[in-house]
Amino acid sequence: MQFKFQSATKILFGRNCLKGNKDELKKYGKRAAIVTGRSSGRASGALDDIISVMEELGISYFIYDKVENNPSPETVKDGGIKAAGFKTDFVVGIGGGSPLDAAKAIAVLAVNDIEPLELYKNVFENTPLPVITIPTTAGTGSEVTPYSILTRKDLQSKLSFGNEATYSKITFMDPRYTESMSCELTVNTALDTLSHAIEGYTSRRCTPLSDVIALETIKIFGQCLDSLLKKDISMEVRDKLLYMSMLGGMVITQTGTTIVHCMGYILTYFRGLHHGKANALLLEEYLKFNRDVLKEKIENILAAIGMMTIDEFGEAVNKLIIRGDRFSEEELSKFASIAINRKGPAFNMKSVTEEDMLEMFKKSLL
Ligand code: NAP
Ligand code: ZN
Repeated sequence: MQFKFQSATKILFGRNCLKGNKDELKKYGKRAAIVTGRSSGRASGALDDIISVMEELGISYFIYDKVENNPSPETVKDGGIKAAGFKTDFVVGIGGGSPLDAAKAIAVLAVNDIEPLELYKNVFENTPLPVITIPTTAGTGSEVTPYSILTRKDLQSKLSFGNEATYSKITFMDPRYTESMSCELTVNTALDTLSHAIEGYTSRRCTPLSDVIALETIKIFGQCLDSLLKKDISMEVRDKLLYMSMLGGMVITQTGTTIVHCMGYILTYFRGLHHGKANALLLEEYLKFNRDVLKEKIENILAAIGMMTIDEFGEAVNKLIIRGDRFSEEELSKFASIAINRKGPAFNMKSVTEEDMLEMFKKSLL
């Protein structure tokens, strides 16, 4: 048995964990950049909490609240320039995966005179500024992964960078901050986590330890499924969803994702589908495509959720997501031709061709 298990983030989880552990921030300096989206920081209550903590601790801050969904290289460049101009000591990312990923990129760019695309070299002359994350969605797990995912027009997709220096130092995970999410966003982000766990568990890069975490993640999804289907999401369920999201992040930190994310990125790039929904649309066909080589693992996945068949799984996912996007065959052929050249196929247990991807797109979306 041989594996690596990497984790570098101090996790503080629970209601009021930020105010209860505010002294943790002291060692990171006196000047902070708060990186967030246009609304999530305020809607979740996390922005008010961090501001009051910073004022109590005498930390100066500026708020960069321009991060769009699926952040662009241009945005993180702008944020990096502003953070450098403020002589920032550390960066606090507040929001869903988009602002957290942007915060990681801004922390690199604030102290390295490079263009955003050079982030992908994954070698930074100067150590990135420390990043603190405060998630307001429960899905991406970005708070515990080293990845920062940016939209890449040149690739007509999205691509992650990240290394041992891009993990957040601390994450404050307060389920109360996820309460302001709509039901649709709650469901879509939960399905993103499910995708992380399933892809991680079935990846060529899985390890014995990542498998344990992945199955636990899937089990918790199964425990929350009824509430998600009924759109009746209590705070206790939100606790579980946020915990589950963190576990999913730990899985992909070890394994990365496979072809679901690779194909989902393209749906987001061309059609603006939410990241979690884009993956969810493809999951059933992903399991069906891989079932001949992953029989036992797929049985374990279904059992962990509390299901017997992939069809039953597909029906549940279909009840959860709001469909309605129409695709043409021509469009899907273009998507498959892009997806096959991304890195996802290399990590899929079963070898994948462009035709396989096209079939999966068609069965999932037509
Ligand atoms: P998101 O793109 O961060 O946010 C989606 C929408 O939800 C935004 O409009 C956001 O508002 C809003 N929102 C966030 N929290 C809210 C809250 N508590 N209440 C009300 N609205 C809220 O969504 P996400 O699914 O969390 O993140 C997706 C991104 O993460 C993608 O770019 C994906 O590629 C990336 N990702 C990263 C990793 C990783 O390891 N780094 C893993 C998976 C996915 P604002 O407009 O204010 O932001
Ligand atoms: Zn994801």
